[in-house]
Amino acid sequence: MSRIMLAANRWCMREVTSIDETMKFYRNKLMREHNTLALQAPAYAFVCVTNDDELLKALAWARIEGVGVVVLGQGSNIALVGNMEALVVHQAVQGIEVLDATDSDVILRVAAGENWHELVQWTLQKGYYGLENLALIPGTVGASPIQNIGAYGVELQSRLLQVHARQIVDDKPVTLDNAACQFSYRDSIFKHERKDQLIITAIDIKLSRLAHINISYPALANFFAENVHIEPTPEAVFNAVVSIRRSKLPDPSVEPNAGSFFKNPLLGSAVAARLLAKHPSLPCFSQANGAVKVSAAWMIEQCGWKGHRVDDLGVHPQHALVLVNYGSASGSQLLTLSNKIVGSVYDEFGVSLEVEPRIYGLRS
Ligand SMILES: Cc1cc2nc3c(=O)[nH]c(=O)nc-3n(C[C@H](O)[C@H](O)[C@H](O)COP(=O)(O)OP(=O)(O)OC[C@H]3O[C@@H](n4cnc5c(N)ncnc54)[C@H](O)[C@@H]3O)c2cc1C
Repeated sequence: MSRIMLAANRWCMREVTSIDETMKFYRNKLMREHNTLALQAPAYAFVCVTNDDELLKALAWARIEGVGVVVLGQGSNIALVGNMEALVVHQAVQGIEVLDATDSDVILRVAAGENWHELVQWTLQKGYYGLENLALIPGTVGASPIQNIGAYGVELQSRLLQVHARQIVDDKPVTLDNAACQFSYRDSIFKHERKDQLIITAIDIKLSRLAHINISYPALANFFAENVHIEPTPEAVFNAVVSIRRSKLPDPSVEPNAGSFFKNPLLGSAVAARLLAKHPSLPCFSQANGAVKVSAAWMIEQCGWKGHRVDDLGVHPQHALVLVNYGSASGSQLLTLSNKIVGSVYDEFGVSLEVEPRIYGLRS
């Protein structure tokens, strides 16, 4: 192992430890470019892994250094509010393999470092259908099971067969089938019993070779109702989702953000009915399990937060769920704003909002 001190860059001195020509560990790595909120915070060390062998070397390095491991994809669902006392492993392993194909279905194994939206595009080009509603979700394939990504009436759980991972503690490869992942709305076992224990290396998904169109989600239904000349093929659904998302959501490369900062609360039917009696315009969506999903964006807007901005931090003027770093806002400013929003929604509606992105760097 060779140790090199790099010259000072504009932020700080970086020490790089190289295991071999291709694998470099960056100490005190500033993380701004690795999270879509563009928050600045140092990590103990950072490494990019492009295959299983490098992943094993990274885990061994962290053990020798005596630090924990945090795996990141594109950092589109995290908020860095302080130092990350860990080796950050950027999972970049690539590859898509067809495991099985029949006249009606195809089973794919997709490596964790593949870009999610590019996967969706690739499957459509091949005539493998089922992911089109999930177009343009930022991030990697490996992160997709963590919060069971979902959009426009479809969730990953409806397409996923298995998750392949390595245990951080002992390198052991493990496979979890769909049921073992315990998926629900923006949730899975990877946020609970298996939190911080696994590095996902690949997922297996089952797609259809026949088109099954799902345009039940109101924004999509409206799109096709207003554009009757467009036949709702999978490609048309993909294009519609891309166009609706582009018109609604700010591009993180222009206005740094982490998408929806708060989850839509799920309430029991009696609680939701009481709330609705008091606030008849509150958008509500009944769930199959009897719960009612209520709109966090509506409540935040009612509390006057939409468009709120102080210095470099604000709530997007068109999207009350999106917090934006307009320049050099800090993680602690973000946390303060988030807490204020949560507090005011609770005071007004008696509903506790839950933050969606994973917060890193909180002092215990
Ligand atoms: C503009 C915008 C729009 C968005 N829209 C949606 C949406 O419509 N629906 C939706 O569900 N989400 C949405 N998101 C959130 C985000 O895109 C997803 O959560 C995505 O899956 C995160 O991928 P990532 O690679 O950036 O994960 P990261 O942000 O890098 O990581 C997120 C979490 O997953 C863990 N993780 C990442 N990779 C792995 C791995 N290989 N193994 C184990 N753990 C891992 C990390 O440790 C972290 O806790 C949006 C975000 C943005 C910025």
